[in-house]
Amino acid sequence: MVPAVDVASFDRVTALAREHGDVRYALGIHPLYVETLADDDLEILEARLGQGGAIAVGEIGLDFFVADHDAPLQERVFRAQLKLARRFDLPVILHVRRAVDAILKQLRNIEVPGGIAHAFNGSRQQADMFIAMGFKLGFGGAMSYEGSRRIRALAAGLPLDSIVLETDAPDMPPAWADGRRNEPANIRRYAEILGELRGIEWHEVAAATTRNAESVLPGLDRV
Ligand SMILES: [Zn+2]
Repeated sequence: MVPAVDVASFDRVTALAREHGDVRYALGIHPLYVETLADDDLEILEARLGQGGAIAVGEIGLDFFVADHDAPLQERVFRAQLKLARRFDLPVILHVRRAVDAILKQLRNIEVPGGIAHAFNGSRQQADMFIAMGFKLGFGGAMSYEGSRRIRALAAGLPLDSIVLETDAPDMPPAWADGRRNEPANIRRYAEILGELRGIEWHEVAAATTRNAESVLPGLDRV
């Protein structure tokens, strides 16, 4: 599952899916890219979603972590994209950083057909609210660091049917990356880590997280 981050990346993710039969893509404008947004970018997104092909709207969301972020602009672009997801009946892939409550508030106002809160890093209570709204929570590289106590405790304690695995490659390198680029192949080791945290075999994790991903992204098995 490969999400776009801005209009310039739409063609790249589309081409990847065309070249590789097992790649699916999402189209959306990432909150860290809203400041370079052109006037007609949301119209381009709407037209591209209307063509079919994308199985989700993403990566979209709010990022209040970076300094000097423009919160009102991020929220305007996020709301517009939630409306597109609702209109095209597509799940969303959410980027949520220091903005869990603000995102939950928008999701209550604009109902979408669920999706994934990727690289989840909130409280158990916030996780439960996402789950109640039809979302799965994404776990990946952060789980591989012994010091990530909260994330590891969440990954161990949440219902297994609420979890999906992700790499966020090339970002969020795992503990063993050692300066090398993060890549999707690491997903297998994340299944092993989650299995260790939960006391089950990695292939049980893999079966469950695959099932979870397919349930929340129905287009995944579309050929
Ligand atoms: Zn993200």
